[in-house]
Amino acid sequence: MPQITFLDTYRDIIEFPTISAFDEKWDMTNRPLIDYLATRLSDFGFDISIQNVPGARNKYNMLAKFGSGEGGLLLAGHSDTVPFDEGRWTQDPFVLRQADERLYGLGTCDMKGFFAFILEALQTIPLKQLKKPLYVLATADEETSMAGARFFAQQQLIKPDMAIIGEPTELKAISRHKGHMAHTLTAEGQAGHSSDPARGVNAIEILHQAIGQLLTLKQQLHDQYRDDDFSVPYATLNLGHIHGGDGENRICGHCQLSFDLRPVPALPDEDAIRLIDEALKPVHSHYPGRLSRALMYPTAPAFACRNEHGLVELAEQLTGQPVGSANYATEGPFINQLGCDTLILGPGSIEQAHQPDEFIDLHYVDPTVTLLRNMVKHVCA
Ligand SMILES: [Zn+2]
Repeated sequence: MPQITFLDTYRDIIEFPTISAFDEKWDMTNRPLIDYLATRLSDFGFDISIQNVPGARNKYNMLAKFGSGEGGLLLAGHSDTVPFDEGRWTQDPFVLRQADERLYGLGTCDMKGFFAFILEALQTIPLKQLKKPLYVLATADEETSMAGARFFAQQQLIKPDMAIIGEPTELKAISRHKGHMAHTLTAEGQAGHSSDPARGVNAIEILHQAIGQLLTLKQQLHDQYRDDDFSVPYATLNLGHIHGGDGENRICGHCQLSFDLRPVPALPDEDAIRLIDEALKPVHSHYPGRLSRALMYPTAPAFACRNEHGLVELAEQLTGQPVGSANYATEGPFINQLGCDTLILGPGSIEQAHQPDEFIDLHYVDPTVTLLRNMVKHVCA
């Protein structure tokens, strides 16, 4: 097989635009990158399966497998990027540029570049000697709905012992993060002339009661869902946006609030939603049929690494750093559902993610390739 250099691979990967966005005008298929990774990994002897992700706009996951049997190691990452800020990049985001010991381009850091690190590490791993399977997973739509990882977890196709998600963590393993969910609360009142309040139902007053209940819940989350691993050491609830009414001389007929909740790992999404609905019960009794709650998009659950196979100790040993926690959400909770020990651990810094002129420092190359090689050796050989 002709050797393709690390920089050539990186250049190829950055050249495929794979933007994910809720807005259809920005949203792109990731298929060309998926096909590229499939070809490159099949050249190493991996078996490839590509799956269309249901409910997404022409998006695909790719699973590559080397070897057979139980357990093994999964190296996972997302194939998509966020949109780029037009006018704020000083270069073409899809053309890899090397300068100042850095690689610039959209997805260099978060996190398409991780696949270039994997392909580089594979050049030096004696794959034929592995006793347990090695998997590489590229998912779709992490930056929006996480539909790719959600779908992959539902299928339960594989059960590795350990998984690494190569998000940019400066090569320090992340074992926990909070989740995120967002809700809208809609109050349907009955509009009328303000001179006689009895002739209508004021939607702002309905939401006023609801907000009182949510603030009580906010305090309850603060008191009952503490977690000192996080810099904000409790589950949070934030009232984010409110709109209602059309004039001071009318009874407000319609009012809508959006709020978010960030659960700690001890608070599963279903329980958080149940707490919200219980908090709102008195408002429903007072105003039957006038208040409704809806999720704005699928929840991103909180994440805590299970450690049944010793991944935490292995990562601490190989990186020389203790595992920590993060403030951002990842695909960790979904990969966790495969039943494997899962850590977020990769090159580059979150500081450069989602930024114009995104880059990765080249000083990550050697330690990352060494880390991946050692990880495969410890888990699969
Ligand atoms: Zn990412």
